[in-house]
Amino acid sequence: MQLDNLYQEVILDHYKNPQNKELASDNDAQVHHVNPSCGDEVTLGVKLDGEKIASINWDGVGCSISQASTSIMTDLLIGKTLTEASEISEKFLHLMQSKGSEEGDADALEDAVALAGVSKYPARIKCALLGWMAFKDASVQAHSAKEN
Ligand code: ZN
Repeated sequence: MQLDNLYQEVILDHYKNPQNKELASDNDAQVHHVNPSCGDEVTLGVKLDGEKIASINWDGVGCSISQASTSIMTDLLIGKTLTEASEISEKFLHLMQSKGSEEGDADALEDAVALAGVSKYPARIKCALLGWMAFKDASVQAHSAKEN
């Protein structure tokens, strides 16, 4: 897989120094997602403060794309509202489905645009989306737990 050098560095930096990679014990919801085609695993917890995302914390193993993408996602979505997070996630999903034809909205996606090149490699898209899907699942569960 060939990615732009600068982007490669962003991904490697998040892979080597993952953000928020320490599971908390007081999450509103926690999920475990796997990507069997690559062997990636992510356990991810979400804590809400009303509509706002107070914490996303995780642990995981797998390829650099899956681990870096999860780290980038936590950096990006913590502090956002659930609505904002879902808009950003939609943009990222759209970028991953672009087959390399889009660069991504850097204002909204920040470091996540470094993963734009992954969209050219269908086998790796699930790697990049693993943490985002885990977040979506956990945030829905956290939200409904709060309402009950
Ligand atoms: Zn992977």
